[in-house]
Amino acid sequence: MTSSESLFARAQELIPGGVNSPVRAFRSVGGAPVFMQSAQGAWLTDVDGNTYVDFINSWGPMILGHAFPPVQEALAQALPNSFSFGAPTRREVEMAELLIEMVPSLEKVRLVNSGTEATMSAIRVARGYTGRPKILKFEGCYHGHGDSFLIAAGSGALTLGAPDSPGVTQGVAQDTLTVPYNDLAAVRAAIDANPEQLAAIIIEPVVGNMGLVEPAHGFLAGLRALCTQHGIVLIFDEVMTGFRLAAGGAQERFGVTPDLTTLGKIIGGGLPVGAYGGRADIMNQVAPAGKVYQAGTLSGNPLATAAGLAQLRYLHEHPEVYQQLETTSTRLADGTRQIAKELGLNYTVNQVGSMFSLFFTSEPVTNLEDAKKADLPAFGRYFHAMLQRGIYLAPSQFEALFISTAITDELVEKYLTACRESLIEAH
Ligand code: PLP
Repeated sequence: MTSSESLFARAQELIPGGVNSPVRAFRSVGGAPVFMQSAQGAWLTDVDGNTYVDFINSWGPMILGHAFPPVQEALAQALPNSFSFGAPTRREVEMAELLIEMVPSLEKVRLVNSGTEATMSAIRVARGYTGRPKILKFEGCYHGHGDSFLIAAGSGALTLGAPDSPGVTQGVAQDTLTVPYNDLAAVRAAIDANPEQLAAIIIEPVVGNMGLVEPAHGFLAGLRALCTQHGIVLIFDEVMTGFRLAAGGAQERFGVTPDLTTLGKIIGGGLPVGAYGGRADIMNQVAPAGKVYQAGTLSGNPLATAAGLAQLRYLHEHPEVYQQLETTSTRLADGTRQIAKELGLNYTVNQVGSMFSLFFTSEPVTNLEDAKKADLPAFGRYFHAMLQRGIYLAPSQFEALFISTAITDELVEKYLTACRESLIEAH
């Protein structure tokens, strides 16, 4: 038995499913998860001493690679000054300034501890602002594990076949409307069927949680226009895409400005930070400026803001990072597409910036129904073949890959060699 296997056996006795977040359990691909020990740059090392090139990067946060020196130094500097005050600090102000400078829609911002808190808070303030009860989300989008979002949810919920979670009451579920992604006509119909009822439309502007799915041309602009016309708060959930698809996120890349934005992952540099923000008139509803309540013992934590600020400052000062990520990811995505084609598989590869997915289906993937056509057993075999070759992928067809700047040309070649061998082995 490997150390990972024995730790997993112990964990299963103690922790539901043996993990603290469901997709980590490898349920959809089979086998025992690998327990990690350390990481440096592009490389992960597990508790048995095996090494892997990381194409998940903690599901996005580690965009500059693991143990990135400026983040490490910022943490080392912050450490002697203690770890939590429950009182305001200078770094929170500096972080708010930088977030507002970099993300087009932000006029005011509030820090929280996770993406889930950010999305839960954003819909509460949208409801408080509009006085309306309902929200609309898109099938296969994941917005964290708040009750309102576990309706036709993506990510781990989709992977485990539980997109509508038990434990969410009918009362809550009836206030969440869902329509297919990329279907503007369905959005229009939902608005017409619920006049003056919709507080918010929340969307992953580029979806990473049913695999990578990009918005059709004009879709985001169409949503913007509908929300403005009907007084609905448009929320871009940029927990994945923020500071990844551009310094200003998907909203910068696609030139569409939402009313509110939710952030997480990259803004914590690997420590737990989320944020929500947007139009000042909406954000001024949040307590203590307004009456919509939201709070957090550890919000704005001094270590978390030290790490987050160091990573954000680096991204701000090095805009060339985004070109590098784009080039690396395009080589990976194009190479994967080409290899699949040469093997007669014609699989779909979707890519936007440094996120991409290989779908085990030859049809285009533009929404959840398309994504579900993928050959999941073949994906599972491919995943394990890649793992054996030292390539760490997301253990689910319904997740994107996240590329870091630590992926060198040599590692692209390593990935592509493994990809060819693994696709052959999986079929
Ligand atoms: N929103 C999106 C788009 C996400 O991808 C995630 C997590 O993957 C969340 C929200 C929830 O963030 P967290 O896991 O930090 O609660």
